[in-house]
Amino acid sequence: MPEIGTKKCRCALCGYIYEYAYLAECTEITLPDTDLRPAMMKRVTMDLWTHTCPVCGFIERDGNVLQEPLPREKIRRIMRSSAYTKKTGLPALAETLIREGMLREACDDPYAYQSILQAAWVCDDDPSAEDESADLRRRALQMIEDSNPSFRTETQVILQYADMLRRIGEFERTAVFCRNVQVDNTELRKVLELQMSLAEGKISGGGYTLRDAGINSLDFFTG
Ligand SMILES: [Zn+2]
Repeated sequence: MPEIGTKKCRCALCGYIYEYAYLAECTEITLPDTDLRPAMMKRVTMDLWTHTCPVCGFIERDGNVLQEPLPREKIRRIMRSSAYTKKTGLPALAETLIREGMLREACDDPYAYQSILQAAWVCDDDPSAEDESADLRRRALQMIEDSNPSFRTETQVILQYADMLRRIGEFERTAVFCRNVQVDNTELRKVLELQMSLAEGKISGGGYTLRDAGINSLDFFTG
């Protein structure tokens, strides 16, 4: 069972000190999906991954330390913008993750795309928001393409990039990417082989896990 704890933090934007609930521990028995979406037990705790300052509304991620100095003026401008404040009609958690992604992007956090991908995961599970998932994945893909080339060689970025390309139906590009990307990690290569065969079969569905690629542990990814 997931274990929930509480922590105190100082808001990185306004300095207010507040308490928030966080995921203290969650043993994952099942391997994540091919885009690293966690198995159900951890997935249901997604609303604990971020926390929002009750004074200024700045959204931060548990365990993610933003690099100082923060571009505070830019952040405030973004938080006032209509792109940020508009009601999207998406599930509240997806909306929060999209906003968090915008704030991380403003702070030049290259992993900002993961917030947008996670918003897509929320929409995948909501029949009324499913169509939005592809748009969110397109947006996250663009963020990766705009990032530093060396960042794009990271294992998790390669995994998530290949999966998102296939999920939006870009089968040709998925196959070309998986074939040509330089990787010396044999486990990662197995996942790319799976993505390639799914793309060749024009399969855009989700729900494929790392185990489907013949992987038995996450060591290759964390080690
Ligand atoms: Zn604040």
